[in-house]
Amino acid sequence: MAELKPVGRFAPTPSGRMHLGNVFAALMAWLSVRSRDGEMVLRMEDLDTQRTSPEYAEILRDDLSWLGLTYDRETPPQNQRSAVYDTYFDRLARQGLLYPCYCTRSQLHSVNAPHLSDGTYVYPGTCRNLTEAERAGFHRAPAWRVRVPECLWAVDDLVQGHSEWNLASDCGDMVVRRADGVYVYQLAVTVDDGEAGVTEVVRGMDLLSSAPRQMYLQSLFGFPHPDYAHVPMLLAPDGRRLSKRDKDLDLGQLRRRVSPERLIGTLAYCAGLIDRNEPVAARELAGEFRWDKLRRDSIFLDAAELI
Ligand code: GLU
Repeated sequence: MAELKPVGRFAPTPSGRMHLGNVFAALMAWLSVRSRDGEMVLRMEDLDTQRTSPEYAEILRDDLSWLGLTYDRETPPQNQRSAVYDTYFDRLARQGLLYPCYCTRSQLHSVNAPHLSDGTYVYPGTCRNLTEAERAGFHRAPAWRVRVPECLWAVDDLVQGHSEWNLASDCGDMVVRRADGVYVYQLAVTVDDGEAGVTEVVRGMDLLSSAPRQMYLQSLFGFPHPDYAHVPMLLAPDGRRLSKRDKDLDLGQLRRRVSPERLIGTLAYCAGLIDRNEPVAARELAGEFRWDKLRRDSIFLDAAELI
């Protein structure tokens, strides 16, 4: 039987210019799909309407086009999809998996909630078994949490390898809708990837812990699990993580100084995909791409090499 064509996605948050880490993750997502003649989907992740804007979305499309990272279709932005997310929320409610949570931010960050290294915490289940009378005593809108089971989720990541996660001890019951009615990233991503038929999710290593959370929601919604590839973060030569704060390394600045081929050649070289640091177009790399060529540990990039 012929292999089904892969469907990948770019899922940028239009809250600023792409920085080098975003460009690298987008390049890897694109190469993985295009090397197998697959389809690429673009989706703007603009749930946070305070931080995101249609202007940045437009600049992102232009940046992708400048980089030569083409896509076949764009699905509706997340902030237009709350009616769709409602239907999935209702399904969880009908399955008896949701409960209202009245905890305040300061309660959640109290000593009772152990902080994890990534800044998140394990929800201790404070509101899990409130009675109707207790709920009625709170005079404010609740957030909604989905119960998570005590079981292991195995993530077989194409870059990071095998890992196992127990959501009950890793994060506790997850918020799926905030008190202000806005759906959270984990629910929106799961629904959007599932409905778009995405078969592989390629993104930065900082989102690895989201994979088991999304796999759990996929299983509740009846979506197949996609393949995952969480690519290493880019580090400066001194080991510091390159981030949005490095303003000189966002595309607004870089586009003035380097060609897309120079940028892509440098990224591909630092990542171990090519042997010499020379300009190359994304489409020229697609034929040769294989995940096992990628460096698995941190990728060091000396910005001076770009200038
Ligand atoms: N929107 C996220 C970001 O820009 C990516 C989420 C994902 O790839 O699942 O970092």
